[in-house]
Amino acid sequence: MDLAFDRQHIWHPYTSTLTPLTCYPVTSAKGVYIELEDGKQLVDGMSSWWSTIHGYNHPVLNEAAHGQIDKVSHVMFGGMTHQPAIDLCKKLLKLAPSNLEHVFLADSGSVSVEVSLKMALQYWHAKGTPRSKFLTLRDGYHGDTFAAMSVTDPDNSMHSLYKGFLPEHIFAKSPQCGFWHEWHESDIDDFKHKISQHNDEIAAVILEPIVQGAGGMRIYHPEFLRRVRALCDEHNVLLILDEIATGFGRTGKLFACEHADVQPDILCLGKALTGGYMTLSATLASKNVADTVCGGEAGCFMHGPTFMGNPLACAVGSASLSLIEEENWQAQTNMIEHQFATRLPKLRQYSQVKDIRWLGAIGVVETHHPVNMEAIQALFVEQGVWIRPFGRLIYMMPPFISEQEHIGKLVDAIEIALQTEDCFQS
Ligand SMILES: *Cc1c(COP(=O)(O)O)cnc(C)c1O
Repeated sequence: MDLAFDRQHIWHPYTSTLTPLTCYPVTSAKGVYIELEDGKQLVDGMSSWWSTIHGYNHPVLNEAAHGQIDKVSHVMFGGMTHQPAIDLCKKLLKLAPSNLEHVFLADSGSVSVEVSLKMALQYWHAKGTPRSKFLTLRDGYHGDTFAAMSVTDPDNSMHSLYKGFLPEHIFAKSPQCGFWHEWHESDIDDFKHKISQHNDEIAAVILEPIVQGAGGMRIYHPEFLRRVRALCDEHNVLLILDEIATGFGRTGKLFACEHADVQPDILCLGKALTGGYMTLSATLASKNVADTVCGGEAGCFMHGPTFMGNPLACAVGSASLSLIEEENWQAQTNMIEHQFATRLPKLRQYSQVKDIRWLGAIGVVETHHPVNMEAIQALFVEQGVWIRPFGRLIYMMPPFISEQEHIGKLVDAIEIALQTEDCFQS
């Protein structure tokens, strides 16, 4: 591959054009293995950012894609519909929290967040009492487009760069009580204070249930989420749950909100929706939200992307949901959680380790010093695994089809990195 061209001309995520980091050339992938150009096989620890839950090159998903591509790859969704969209949405509504009845399909997770925020704004406008603020949590992540970024942690997403342009919303303290720890009532104080202080300005609360992902891989107490739902009801504020990362079994429940037994008014889904084959998102709304939005002055929901309901993506998404309906994900994520629970605690002995935590098919090692990306990435590749840390977080979210030996290989590689000084900045 022409890596020199790539290096000189192609932007990669959060990467400098002046001093780009090494990019590893991939030629194919199958199951949990990613194959590099030199033939090296890497055990995947990332599910390509939460998405490839069934593994790569899956026969059922391949068949769905091939079958659809020979019929129609894309057709506009305005005034037309098709079986793949109907199949996908039927399955989604069957699996999702029971109060959600309407599905809006769009291109990506960030767009789903934009859509959810627009729904909330239109909801209050339609009621004749417009509201323009959102309440969210510190350390959250909701995407890279502007509205999504405006509710993402201000420091992590460098709000300072966009000052004067980015809308300013309300941030409550992030939960401090971990999932497996004791609940302390004071954890909800700041949130409670902010929602009661600003309740008639707040259109909706938006947050990631149970696991704050890209904002810090924080796994918090279900009681926090239960309190949030109760406070939203008490203060008449909508609740948007962003399950773009956590949805479809990743936390050991089909949706993370099930850990707290709560239902959102609006739900954002993406990432694993197509089993990692292509980009697609879904924003689900309650009947109350949809009816109110469409009963307002606009008479409809004001959004309609070109590739809305793309048949190819819907066909693969529908096939992926069929795999989920077979329910193997439950045993698989239980097994992975058990592997993390038995293998991760021994890493506490290394001085570099600040904390370890896990839930479902998510395992996190937080270190004292930020990783040296170039060095740690090279070490992982040499060890035959694909793990991509950021900052002080080395984390794994392997495909659900991973076996014990694969999880073992990932954890072993991390253990070697923890003993290698080069892998960390001092
Ligand atoms: C990844 C992510 C998004 C953004 O999705 P994209 O498809 O990257 O636009 C939004 N919210 C959460 C919680 C995510 O993890």
